[in-house]
Amino acid sequence: MDSKCSDIIEIIKTKVIINDYIYVFQKEVGDGLRYTCVQRKKHYCKGSVTINSSKTNILKFQKHSHNPDSAEAEVCRALNVMKENIINNFDIPSKVYAIRKRSYQINRRSCLFDAK
Ligand SMILES: [Zn+2]
Repeated sequence: MDSKCSDIIEIIKTKVIINDYIYVFQKEVGDGLRYTCVQRKKHYCKGSVTINSSKTNILKFQKHSHNPDSAEAEVCRALNVMKENIINNFDIPSKVYAIRKRSYQINRRSCLFDAK
């Protein structure tokens, strides 16, 4: 998959998600921040991305050896939201999970209706 200007960079703490590929922060490089694929061990993947320090643009992109895992990306997002809720609202994990699960079910349903 080629990198495009329209690619959305989702920042999740020390990780970024781009096109459902998850990357973990590796190091600062001359012109930005380098992230490597979280699947690099599992798939011997050399996928990586370098983004500018304000995290708005992709500077360099290295191809992956596997397809993106949208389910895992979704898990990563959901876990982050749950953690934030717990930290910010002192919610108990089971309550946060229940709320999150409900919103997913609602989203799923609306997706079905929107499908053309
Ligand atoms: Zn990869």
